[in-house]
Amino acid sequence: MRPLLEFRNVACAYSREPVLLNISLRIEPGQFVGLVGPSGSGKTTLLRTALGLVRPVAGAVLFDGRPLAGPPPQVGYVPQVETVDWTFPVTVEEVVLMGRTMELGPWPWVSRRTRQEVHTLLARLGLDGLATRHIRDLSGGQQQRVFLARALLRKPRLLLLDEPTAG
Ligand code: ADP
Ligand code: MG
Repeated sequence: MRPLLEFRNVACAYSREPVLLNISLRIEPGQFVGLVGPSGSGKTTLLRTALGLVRPVAGAVLFDGRPLAGPPPQVGYVPQVETVDWTFPVTVEEVVLMGRTMELGPWPWVSRRTRQEVHTLLARLGLDGLATRHIRDLSGGQQQRVFLARALLRKPRLLLLDEPTAG
């Protein structure tokens, strides 16, 4: 089967010292893969590379057989909660809707159907009633579920979860 995500001898670095070296992997549709390693070993960097947010200094990253050029629309990402800037003034609903910004096109408004999807997802994740709450005022675990809702709104073919068992 053609891999959904493929790394070919990837190396990544923020400065001179490489963080990732010679990483090769293939993830096929339907696979569930866990990435384990000590703190600082490069797990988050690997996920950000799969998203096109970190550019490898060597090797290639392919999504569905094509080289990455920016974040692929069919990937959902739940960031490590500690790395998110919570001073940003947004509500739960607004964060979840960010999962759709690529599809919104030139129209600044959100369809009733999309809003309904957001509320269905929030209910499914045990967050009903929190849509208009400021994201800053939620617990860590609730914030994480908001990001999961955002990722699921994209109907992703690949879901990347950073430290999903924290909180
Ligand atoms: P993990 O998620 O496994 O804890 P990270 O991928 O966050 O590891 O970090 C791997 C290494 O890269 C660490 O040494 C970290 O200090 C460094 N690093 C991570 N992000 C940055 C950054 N934005 N700029 C410089 N160095 C970074
Ligand atoms: Mg990390």
